[in-house]
Amino acid sequence: MKLVINSLSKTYANGVHALKDVSLTLNNGMFGLLGPNGAGKSSLMRTIATLQEADKGSIYLDDLDVLKNKTEVRQLLGYLPQEFGVYPKISAERMLDHIAQLKGVGNKGERKDLVEGLLENVNLSKDRKKHLGTYSGGMKQRFGIAQALIGNPKLIIVDEPTAGLDPAERNRFYNLLSQLGENTIVILSTHIVEDVSTLCSNFAIICQGEVLYAGDPETAVSEMEGKIYSKAINKTEIAFYKDDYNVISTQLKTGKLHIRILKETDPGNGFTPAIPNLEDVYFGNIATRVDVNTI
Ligand code: ADP
Repeated sequence: MKLVINSLSKTYANGVHALKDVSLTLNNGMFGLLGPNGAGKSSLMRTIATLQEADKGSIYLDDLDVLKNKTEVRQLLGYLPQEFGVYPKISAERMLDHIAQLKGVGNKGERKDLVEGLLENVNLSKDRKKHLGTYSGGMKQRFGIAQALIGNPKLIIVDEPTAGLDPAERNRFYNLLSQLGENTIVILSTHIVEDVSTLCSNFAIICQGEVLYAGDPETAVSEMEGKIYSKAINKTEIAFYKDDYNVISTQLKTGKLHIRILKETDPGNGFTPAIPNLEDVYFGNIATRVDVNTI
């Protein structure tokens, strides 16, 4: 499967230009869409999921024109939206059975097997009779994946799935997501760099509606080699450093501010070369658009 997005643009009625000429090609596997809040990730996801219109551009899933064939696309799609509401007084088992029925699995026995398999898959078998309202954030997200998997989707979209999960829940969710993706296209939107470095074979950085980078994480990091320098400074000096250097990230550690800068040549002045990572790629790309202290 291949998803080809070409020159997609969207301006909302209030004048916000949420997508500006977005072009991306996605193959089978996990694709990370990385960007700060308000970057346009959800707008792009909702457009691919046929839930809103674009002003301009095209999306093709192999030969299928996504923007013109909503019904066909929805049959191939599994979607976990950012705001995933659950009916609080229904058990996971009953809810999945209900969704499977809505998705056209008419045979009761077949549905039972399907639901059992899904619950097993997302590690919720022992909690299957509990009301969804009693689920933790991580359990809700895993339930969300289970419902998105009904009907063997070829394209799975998960919008900011790890936001609000504690580290243990996030790990469990990573394990689940990493099992998907080999024979399907999985698009994962996130503002968390670790989500991409842990899970994604390819990714794009989006900011203010524009694609700033697209590629694979390894290449992206190797392109930063020899260009990242770090230094521990006093907090009060930051304004000076921001004036003189391209400061891409700052981190407070034991009272000192550790800054990282992006520079093609050795800056001297007490900076030491640092081993680049995916955060440097991300912050290096968006630093010109967004103040590093507000990310
Ligand atoms: P992200 O998912 O990356 O946080 P969004 O796609 O939700 O970004 O938002 C991109 C921009 O579009 C933001 O400025 C947001 O306020 C705006 N926006 C999103 N949805 C709407 C809408 N329905 N109407 C008007 N503006 C919107």
